[in-house]
Amino acid sequence: MQLSKHNIIGRLKDSDEYFIVNPLSRQADILTAEKAQEFSAQVFSDPAELVEKGYLVDPEEERKRYNREYLDFLDNRDADEVQIFYVPTYFCNFSCTYCYQEGYEHTAEIKHTEVIDAFFAYIDREFAGRKKYVTVFGGEPLLPGSAAKANIAYLIEQATKRNLALAFVTNGHTLKQYIPILKKGFIREIQVTLDGPQEIHDRRRMLKGGAGTFSQIVEGIDAALAEGMPINLRSVVDRSNMPYLGQLAEFAITQGWTANKLFKTQLGRNYELHVCQADQQKLYDRASMYEDIYNLVKRQPSFLEFHRPAFSISKFLFENGELPNPLFDSCPGTKTEWAFDFSGRIFSCTATVGKEGEALGTFYPQVTRKDEIIREWEQRDVTTIEACAACPMQLACGGGCAAVAKNATGRISSPDCRPVGDLLGMGLSLYFQT
Ligand code: SF4
Ligand code: SF4
Repeated sequence: MQLSKHNIIGRLKDSDEYFIVNPLSRQADILTAEKAQEFSAQVFSDPAELVEKGYLVDPEEERKRYNREYLDFLDNRDADEVQIFYVPTYFCNFSCTYCYQEGYEHTAEIKHTEVIDAFFAYIDREFAGRKKYVTVFGGEPLLPGSAAKANIAYLIEQATKRNLALAFVTNGHTLKQYIPILKKGFIREIQVTLDGPQEIHDRRRMLKGGAGTFSQIVEGIDAALAEGMPINLRSVVDRSNMPYLGQLAEFAITQGWTANKLFKTQLGRNYELHVCQADQQKLYDRASMYEDIYNLVKRQPSFLEFHRPAFSISKFLFENGELPNPLFDSCPGTKTEWAFDFSGRIFSCTATVGKEGEALGTFYPQVTRKDEIIREWEQRDVTTIEACAACPMQLACGGGCAAVAKNATGRISSPDCRPVGDLLGMGLSLYFQT
């Protein structure tokens, strides 16, 4: 018997205790300092219990278990629904201070109806028999003006004809005026961004020309919720708005949003993806962002009513009483996610869509596919990324984001390491000890 390759051991933040998590055997325990010491020394007072939990293993048996779990993972993923993004425009009526699409070109004179028809013809054929839904993304997909509205109405009509549910990722500014159009479709979710309380949000996410947008977005959220449309409120976080997130949480609680079952939240890290950000100082790496969220929750526990951060698999364990299935791949690109744009190009996902050199093919005016690159995307997981093979975090990390990895190394099949140990130290401490 020897120690499992998948034991993740670390110290709980602000505590004398330790944790052990094994994502393969799906066991987790809090350890006293003495018990943690037994793992370093590899001398155990109760080895039978550790064998039962999969912390001590026969390596050959563990390898077989790993292979079985991997096959299950692939089967489950094949049965998963596919999220298909459609970008009707890269234009936006906002000029957010951090927008990564600001470097993209915008094209006029597009035959939108023809392209939308080609898009649906492609997904009818390529994703026949798969569960799927369409997420409309931008730029800003819900632009003011009759031409933009007619396009969205046509897209909704075509999706509804096929019983396809729709999600929208919007800045929220025209949400209220779009509700009569949206009501004609099956709306599964509308993702809207607020970056803080009014003063902070308006400083970061203003209209082109500089006017604030907070009040109108709030009206749109209220109107959508009143119509029974689920809202996913996203905040893009960096060091400059983190100090105000607590105020945004209070606002959402007072507004009655957090008590509404149709309301959920997500925090997105503002990070440099394609276009250099003017002020890099304010960007977080993943661990320091979570550290500041940890401190925020300690100061203001009611923040958890607004948002429960994942801290790797800590939140899942807390909410479900068990660990999730082993995560062999955290990047859905080309597996359960694809992105299409109005110019007829096909991309892996939202991180690559519209980026020069990243197209994987076209669906209009004719269908083409770069099969070799698609295969590389499809095969990327912790079993094919060399650096992940010996990493104990692999089944909690999943290899990270292919687009970020490729930006850093030039190779799709390279790692984008997640600070799993740090995140577990914070998350398990917060959810199980505080
Ligand atoms: S490349 Fe990154 S952004 Fe794109 S699907 Fe994978 S994890 Fe998501
Ligand atoms: S991406 Fe990095 S942290 Fe994640 S499994 Fe691979 S080597 Fe480990």
